[in-house]
Amino acid sequence: MNQRTDPRNLPPKRLENPDLERHNGISATLPFALAHVACVAAIWTGVTTDALIVGAVLYVVRMFGATAGYHRYFSHRTFETSRVGAFLLGWLAQTGAQKGVLWWAAHHRVHHQRSDQEGDVHSPVVHGFWHGHVGWIFDPALTPTRWSRVRDLSRYPELRFLNRFWILPPLSLALTVLAIWGWSGLVVGFVWSTVALWHGIFTINSLAHLWGSRTFDTPDHSRNNPLLALITLGEGWHNNHHHHMLSTRQGFRWWQFDITYYVLKVMSWFRLVWDLREPPDELKRAQPKP
Ligand SMILES: [Zn+2]
Ligand SMILES: [Zn+2]
Repeated sequence: MNQRTDPRNLPPKRLENPDLERHNGISATLPFALAHVACVAAIWTGVTTDALIVGAVLYVVRMFGATAGYHRYFSHRTFETSRVGAFLLGWLAQTGAQKGVLWWAAHHRVHHQRSDQEGDVHSPVVHGFWHGHVGWIFDPALTPTRWSRVRDLSRYPELRFLNRFWILPPLSLALTVLAIWGWSGLVVGFVWSTVALWHGIFTINSLAHLWGSRTFDTPDHSRNNPLLALITLGEGWHNNHHHHMLSTRQGFRWWQFDITYYVLKVMSWFRLVWDLREPPDELKRAQPKP
């Protein structure tokens, strides 16, 4: 019996629909809406230089957590790390408050399987731009973690813990920022950067399926877009990614900058991560279509 079929690896409690097991977590909808409203509290807290610097740093660091963690490690397993490394990467990813790593990876795997067809959870082509960008997260049918999509990850109790108590990383970060930089730090440094981070990532679900060039004839509408690659540290080479999702590196051409990959490469020199995957050589030479 291999690890995937061993029943001990399945989550303990199962409902009638094995694909939509109860999430047991905290609803994400209310904090998501409140964070947007809370941005205006800067009128009362003020906008300090320190808070702006904290916000910029938290945006970049947590964007790396999202792309290296949620996406390139947990969703696609494009490189290897230790169990401790995976937990820390999951914690870092979740400081961006996009729910648990198992929830995120499961829905993302559905996105690749059904991309821009019926069943894709966030296709701007099928359901319109706003649904693809942000509307889909309000769909209650998407609240549970789809355990059947993440059996490779759900056998680790520490990842199930992280997924269930997904609020712990962002909450502890918010409280730390409040303690050090005060209310302006919390609102401008944490909340502003969190909302910017969300919409930065969401552009890959929405704009990166509508705006940009195509190099590969993928069955979906994915695009390569340098502006989106800049604000997401490399995720904007989305047509490349849909064509060859097993590659750690998403900027296939030498000039397609991919900050997340560069950071992971440096981490691999220190054996914090290893077995980073490159695209095949012929893909590195592929030219964008006119
Ligand atoms: Zn992906
Ligand atoms: Zn996509």
